[in-house]
Amino acid sequence: MSLEDHAEDLASDLGVDTEEVKRDLENLVSYSVPMDEAKQSLRRKYGDDTAGGGNGPTTRDVADISTGDSNVSVTGVLLTVGQRSIQYQGEEIVIFEGELADETGKISYTAWEDFGLEPGITVRIGNAGVREWEGDPELNLGESTSVELLEDSVDVDYEVGGDRDLADLSIGDRGVNVEVLVQDCETKVIDGRDGETEILSGVLADGSGRLPFTDWDPHDGIATDESVRIENAFVREFRGVPSVNVSEFSTVQALDRSVGATDSAQQRSVRSAVESGGLFDVELVGTVIDLRDGSGLIERCPECGRMVQNGQCRSHGEVDAEDDLRTKAILDDGTGTVTVVLGEDLTEEVYGGDVEDAKEAARDAMDREVVADAIAQTVVGREFRVRGSLSVDDYGANLEARSFAPTTDDPADRARALLAEVGR
Ligand SMILES: [Zn+2]
Repeated sequence: MSLEDHAEDLASDLGVDTEEVKRDLENLVSYSVPMDEAKQSLRRKYGDDTAGGGNGPTTRDVADISTGDSNVSVTGVLLTVGQRSIQYQGEEIVIFEGELADETGKISYTAWEDFGLEPGITVRIGNAGVREWEGDPELNLGESTSVELLEDSVDVDYEVGGDRDLADLSIGDRGVNVEVLVQDCETKVIDGRDGETEILSGVLADGSGRLPFTDWDPHDGIATDESVRIENAFVREFRGVPSVNVSEFSTVQALDRSVGATDSAQQRSVRSAVESGGLFDVELVGTVIDLRDGSGLIERCPECGRMVQNGQCRSHGEVDAEDDLRTKAILDDGTGTVTVVLGEDLTEEVYGGDVEDAKEAARDAMDREVVADAIAQTVVGREFRVRGSLSVDDYGANLEARSFAPTTDDPADRARALLAEVGR
C-alpha cells in the first residue's frame, strides 16, 4: 500500500480532503514516524477519537470530571497518599489512595499498582478510569494508566500532606497523619482473615476533639497515656461515627511532648450535629419533650442484648430474658430533635432507683409501664445538657449519652453561643 493509498483511505474515513491528509502523512513519515502511528495521530488531529478501537481518554480539569466520564487524563498535585491492603477477588492486594488537586478543585483516587506516588509531587495521569464513589467521581489508576512526574508545580488551594486535627477528619479520609494522646487503649481478639488476631482499640484525643481508633496491626507505641504521631491512617465509620484506622502500613512515633487533649465535647445545635452525619463526642442542650417506647423497665436477650418482647428475641427465639433499665428521651432544642439513649446507670439516676426497685414498683402496680411513667415525670418538660456519641441512620438520630444533667447555666449565654455557631 502506497502512501497515497493510505492517505485516500484515511481521508475517506475521516471525511476530510485527501491532499491535506497526504501532506500531513508525508510530513510525519519524513520524521521517521511509522505509518500506523502517523495514521493514528492524524485520526486524533482530525477529531476521530475511535483511534485505537476504543474511546481515548479526555483531558480534563479536576472540577470538570464527572461520573459520566469513562477515561480521563489529568494533571495535578498529590495532596495525600495512603497505603493499605484489601481483599480483592480472594487475594490480598496493596492499594494506594488519597486526593489529587489542580487549580479547579480536588478529587479522590485509588491506585491499584505502585506508581511511586508521594504527597506534594505534581503528576500527569494518563488514561485513568472514572468511577462513582458515594455519589462523587473518583479516579481509578490501573494497568493502562500512566503516571508522569512533572517538574513544574501546580498552584492549588489545598494543603499538601495528610496532617489533620481529629475534629477535621471525616469518614473516607485516607493517608492522614495525626498527633494525639492515646486516652484509652485495650487489646481485643477478633476473628480475622487468618483466624484469631489481636487488635488494639480505644480513644484518641487532641486539642480539637476525641475519636475512637482501631489498630489492626498492633504498634508498640500505642498505649494508654502515650503521645504519638501516627502517619498514614485512614478513617472509617464505626457505629455511626468516624474512627481512625491504623494498619500495617501506618507508622507510629512517640512524641517528645505530651499532646494536650481537650476535656470538652464539641457543642452543637441539634440540627448541625445531625447534619454532620455522626459525632463521637458532642454536647447538646435541649428540652425533653417525650419518651419513646422501650423506655423504663425492659427485658433483654441474654445472648445478644437486644430488647425482647414477650420473652421472644428476634434472633434467638424464646429466651430467659434479663431485666434492664433504659430511657429513650426525645430532646428538642428548637433546631431539631434527637433520641437520647440513657443506659442503666444514667436511667437509675433519673429514676432514683435500680432494677430491683423498678421490679418492685412494677409488681405493686401490676404494670411495668409505671417505671417509664415515673421517669417521664422527672424529665419531660425539663432542659438537659447531654454529652455522648451521636449516630445518624435511616431511622433517625440517636445519642448514646455518657452524661445527662439538668442545665443550670444562663439561657442568654447559650443563646449567644448558638447564634455564634449559626454565623460560622
Ligand atoms: Zn438475642
